[in-house]
Amino acid sequence: QRHMTTNQIFKPSSINFEELGIGGLGKQFGDIFRRAFASRVFPPSVIERLGIRHVKGMLLHGPPGTGKTLIARQIGKMLNGREPKVVNGPEVLNKYVGASEENIRNLFGDAEAEYKEKGEASELHIIIFDEIDAICKQRGSVRDGSGVHDTIVNQLLTKVDGVDSLNNILLIGMTNRKDLLDEALLRPGRLEVHVEIGLPDQAGRHEILRIHTTKMSKNSFLDKSVDLLQLAELTKNFSGAEIEGLVGSAVSFALNRHLDMTNLSKTIDDENVKVTMSDFEAALEE
Ligand code: ATP
Repeated sequence: QRHMTTNQIFKPSSINFEELGIGGLGKQFGDIFRRAFASRVFPPSVIERLGIRHVKGMLLHGPPGTGKTLIARQIGKMLNGREPKVVNGPEVLNKYVGASEENIRNLFGDAEAEYKEKGEASELHIIIFDEIDAICKQRGSVRDGSGVHDTIVNQLLTKVDGVDSLNNILLIGMTNRKDLLDEALLRPGRLEVHVEIGLPDQAGRHEILRIHTTKMSKNSFLDKSVDLLQLAELTKNFSGAEIEGLVGSAVSFALNRHLDMTNLSKTIDDENVKVTMSDFEAALEE
């Protein structure tokens, strides 16, 4: 059941982001939900009486590895109870003339068929377009002499415009290069809500560090010397993905210390394995 009554609607403020594995993005999550989803969970009659239209699409933009995919997938899952469809811009591109356009049309196929059959009772189909810049660069900017790129952009715009008559689709485009996108895609009625997912601040980095050390902490692998607050301070300009990488690197230093290089088959006493602050320092140095 897509349309819920108001008291069934979950409140982003009551979500435990740490449990979901999303750090430092509470505000952005709230913004995305309010702009693109809040109106979706009300019955169409309410929207009609308010005299507004649904947002059809949004763009999440920002540096690589900041959690754009993470947040889009999670919102999709929460709303539908199933994984949203994720497509990758470069994957849609096909070297055969016409095939890319067909790939784009197919993406919308399931949602269109369900809407035809069930109308307003259709589930919400969330289509996540990762690296949308790969297929939607400014028209005229790709000078390969074929004009194929422009045709693909036009096909996508036609599809997005067609969503007007379908109430059951939400497109989420993602990019690190908003500046390259064809502006027509970003106009009202298309990917009109733009949310920046930037690098995490210190509090955000602390949350991300906690998320990626939860397991080792629960299983007593995290040494008392590890000061996550201090690490949050030391990781200025790190993205979420880079923080995850740092944790992995610290663990590799810790594990390495417990190996006997002269006898690699020797059983390791894993009770004694501890990831220490020095491991994190070594990882940072690296
Ligand atoms: P890209 O633009 O390169 O596709 P992205 O912004 O979509 O990157 P993700 O793919 O969501 O980034 O992040 C990669 C991985 O980094 C995630 O699977 C997660 O493990 C970790 N990560 C990134 N951001 C966060 C975050 N805010 N909280 C927790 N983990 C994060």
